[in-house]
Amino acid sequence: MAKVLCVLYDDPTDGYPTTYARDDLPAIGHYPGGQSTPTPEAVDFTPGHLLGSVSGELGLRSFLEKAGHTLVVTSDKDGEGSVFDRELPDADIVISQPFWPAYLTPQRIAAARNLKLAVTAGIGSDHVDLDAAIAHGVTVAEVTYCNSVSVAEHVVMMTLSLVRNYLPSHRVVLDGGWNIADCVARSYDLEGMHVGTVAAGRIGLAVLRRLAPFDVKLHYTDRHRLPQDVERELGLTWHESAADMVPHCDVVTVNAPLHPETEGLFGDELLATMKRGAYLINTARARIVDRDAVDRALRGGRLAGYAGDVWFPQPAPADHPWRGMPHHGMTPHISGSSLSAQARYAAGTREILESFFAGRPLREEYLIVDGGALAGTGARSYSVTK
Ligand code: NDP
Repeated sequence: MAKVLCVLYDDPTDGYPTTYARDDLPAIGHYPGGQSTPTPEAVDFTPGHLLGSVSGELGLRSFLEKAGHTLVVTSDKDGEGSVFDRELPDADIVISQPFWPAYLTPQRIAAARNLKLAVTAGIGSDHVDLDAAIAHGVTVAEVTYCNSVSVAEHVVMMTLSLVRNYLPSHRVVLDGGWNIADCVARSYDLEGMHVGTVAAGRIGLAVLRRLAPFDVKLHYTDRHRLPQDVERELGLTWHESAADMVPHCDVVTVNAPLHPETEGLFGDELLATMKRGAYLINTARARIVDRDAVDRALRGGRLAGYAGDVWFPQPAPADHPWRGMPHHGMTPHISGSSLSAQARYAAGTREILESFFAGRPLREEYLIVDGGALAGTGARSYSVTK
C-alpha cells in the first residue's frame, strides 16, 4: 500500500466554500488537436468545487483510502521542520501543484527513499529537480493540457489590461475619482500591434489563436516550427530565437517551460533590445526572466508594463520587488487554477494514480521523466543539464 503525500495551497481565509458563484461547468471532452480530457474510471468530487486547497484534497481521499492507501495533505511545505519534510522520507508518491509547489530538490529526492512518482497536478514540473529524478528512477508526470487554455485566457486578459491601462483605471473608480486623463494617458489599442510568443506549444498557440481576431501581427519563436498551414492561417512570422523576435514586438508573451535553455532568458541584455514601451507578459515561470532586470526595465521605461502570475519563490515574500514596481499587473499564481482547470487536473491526477496502481503505463503525453530519462512531453519540451 502506498503513502501519498499531497501538498496543496491553503483554504480561503474565510473558510472552505459552502456555495459557489455558478452551478456548473461547460462540458469539454477534447482539447484543441483532439487529445481527450482526463479519463479516470470515476471521480469523487463535484466539478466546479474548490479542489486545489487543503480541504479540497483534489477529491482523492475516498478513492485512495478505499484502496488501502494513506493520504497526507498539507500546505506546510517550506522551512525547517515542515510537515512536507517530516512526511517525505517514507512517501511513495508526491503530488503538488505549481501554484504552491513542493520543491523536490536533489536533497529532498535523496531523502525520499521510497519515492517512485512525483505528480504535478497542473503543468510545469520545474519544481522537481529533473536531473535528480532521473538519477533516482523517479517518474515525473503532469496533467498535460489541463490548464493550457486557462492560462491562454489569462494571457489575453493581461495583454489587454496592460495595453489599455485597465487596472489603474479601475483603481480610480475604487478611490472615488473620475479623472479621465489619469486613466488614458497610458492607454492604447492593441489593434495593429506586433505580438510575439516565446514558444508556441499548447499555451503559446492558444494565445496566438485567441489574439488573431484583434487584427494584430503575430510572431513566434519555438524550437520546432508550427505546420505551414497554421502559420498561413494565423499569418505568423517565425523567428529563429527570442533575440531575433523581441525587437519587432510591441507585446511579448512567454510560454516556454523553465529548463536550462530558458532560465534567465530575459535579462538586461535581451530587455534592452525590446522596443521602448513594449509590454512583457510572463505566465510561464518567473526564473525565465531576471527579477531585478524587469524592475529596472519598468522604472527606466524600456517596458511600459509587465504582467504575469509566476514568481520565485512561491509564495512570494511580502517584500518581493515585483509587488511594488511601477506599471505591473501581477496576480498570485492563479491562471492555471480556475475552478474549471481544477476539475480537469484533479481528474487527471486520479487517472495517473489509477494507471500507476494498476501497473498500466501512464499516458505518453503525461510523462516528463520515466525510466531514468526524459520521456513523453518531457522529452519534447524540456532539457536537462547533463
Ligand atoms: P507545451 O509543452 O505544450 O509547450 C511548451 C513549448 O515550449 C513547446 O512548443 C516547446 O518546444 C517550447 N520550448 C521549449 N524550450 C524552448 C526554447 N528554449 N525556446 C523556444 N521554445 C521552447 O507546454 P504548455 O504550452 O502547456 O505550457 C508551457 C509552460 O507554461 C509550462 O511548462 C509551464 O511552465 C507554464 N504553465 C503555467 C501555468 C500557470 O498557471 N501560470 C499553467 C500551465 C503551464 P518544442 O516542443 O517545439 O520543442
